[in-house]
Formats: sequence, C-alpha cells, structure tokens
Amino acid sequence: MEEVTGMTAVDYGNVTGLVHSTESFGTVDGPGVRFIVFMQGCKMRCQYCHNPDTWEMESNKARERTVDDVLREAVGYRHFWGKNGGITVSGGEALLQIDFVTALFTKAKEQGIHCTLDTCAMPFRNKPDYLEKFDRLLAVTDLVLLDIKEIREEQHKFVTKQTNRNILACAQYLSDKGVPMWIRHVLVPGLTDIDEDLKDLGAFVKTLKSVDKFEVLPYHTMGEFKWRELGIPYPLEGVKPPTAARVKNAKELMQTESYQDYLKRIAE
Ligand code: SF4
Repeated sequence: MEEVTGMTAVDYGNVTGLVHSTESFGTVDGPGVRFIVFMQGCKMRCQYCHNPDTWEMESNKARERTVDDVLREAVGYRHFWGKNGGITVSGGEALLQIDFVTALFTKAKEQGIHCTLDTCAMPFRNKPDYLEKFDRLLAVTDLVLLDIKEIREEQHKFVTKQTNRNILACAQYLSDKGVPMWIRHVLVPGLTDIDEDLKDLGAFVKTLKSVDKFEVLPYHTMGEFKWRELGIPYPLEGVKPPTAARVKNAKELMQTESYQDYLKRIAE
C-alpha cells in the first residue's frame, strides 16, 4: 500500500488497500444503512471470529483496490443511505491499513459522507508517530465502533491471543479526544460471558466520556463453516448462542457498578 505522507501532496484517490470484500446494504455496523468495506488482515485470533478468511495479509481472494475505485462503488448505493447512513470500514482489522482508510474517508468527507471505523484497535499505539497518523484518521472519522472482547487481560489473551492493553488505551484516547464511540462486546457462553468481567467492563465503559452506545452482541455460529473451509479446527464446536436470559444478565451487570466501586474492588 502507498504511504500517506501529508495532507496536501498526496493523491488520495490513488492510495491502494487490500480489500477482502464489500457489502452494499449493511444495517448493523453503524447508524442507518451503510456500505461496508471489509479490509484484509487481522492479527487477533478470536476464538469466535466469523471472518477467519480475513486474517492473512496475503490472500488470493482479496483485491488491491484504489480509494477512487472503492468510493465509486460505495457512492453507487448512496440512494439507500438516507439521512443517517454512509460508509463503514471494517475487517479483518481496518487499522492495519490506516493510510488507506484515512485516504478513503478524506475523499468521502469531501462528498459529505458519514464515515465510521469499525475496529478492535489492536494496532493502536500510544506513541507520537502512531498518534500523528491516528489523529489524521480521526479528523475524517465521524464514529468509531470499538470492540472490547474482554476487559480482563488474561482472559483477553485466552480469547484472542493478544493483550488488550492497547485496546483499552485506544478507548481512553478516543474518550479524551471526545470521539463518538459505540462500544461492542460479543457475548460468548463460557468465554466472554463471565459475571465479574462483565461488571468490570461496564465500570470501565462508564469512565469513558464519548460513548453513544454500549452494545452486547450475542455470539452466533454463522462463521463456523469458514473455519471448516479453511481447514482450521473450530475452537467453539458445540457452543450455542447465549440465551435471552444471559444476554439480559450481561446488560444488567454492565450497568450495576460505579467506577469508584470498581476501583475499590480491583485494589482489594
Ligand atoms: S478482531 Fe475481528 S476479524 Fe480479527 S480475529 Fe477477532 S473477530 Fe476476527
């Protein structure tokens, strides 16, 4: 992918990214009806991932595409978007191709399009050179959908094979900057449906200042066949989606504790 080196000298339309696929009528990844761009590549290995085919940075199914090409396709569906819709870039992990997303959103904003970033934030780094790029992206981003897979680091590593420190740091950074966020948590029986962790997650989210929505997404098995197709053993074989009672329980627990109580409890 070409490097975006500045705001003025670059022809954003020619910046390229590795795109796994697109969806013309997305209704769950941001407000309204949206055109979704799924980027190729992700370094997490969530046990419940429903897009394992986006993991590898090399894929003969993904295509190197220019911003102009993707934007042209997206705008073809603009009549679906109404007042609230727009473009969401998802993945895989969109932040692994931050230059492409910045370029795409920059060009989209020129046309008044609402731009949403759907991320797990694993590539986030609280370091000046990274933040310079990240700020450039945030300047053209209307909303961030941030997945928090698990609040407890040890369990996060078990679920995703990665730490959550930079993910929580990203949430804090977005909050400090006042960037509108939807926090999302996928509820998987036995894996991310743990009462104490849900309480802690709720308490953490309460500390964030710019959260417009906090969603529980019940685990589903629709991506299971992709693991089979790729010849990767599915770690959640036989695990069923959570019951309505467990979803209700999670929503209640995430509301129960104040941040002060949370700090007291983790200090004990
Ligand atoms: S972050 Fe998303 S794409 Fe990556 S492994 Fe997890 S669920 Fe899959």
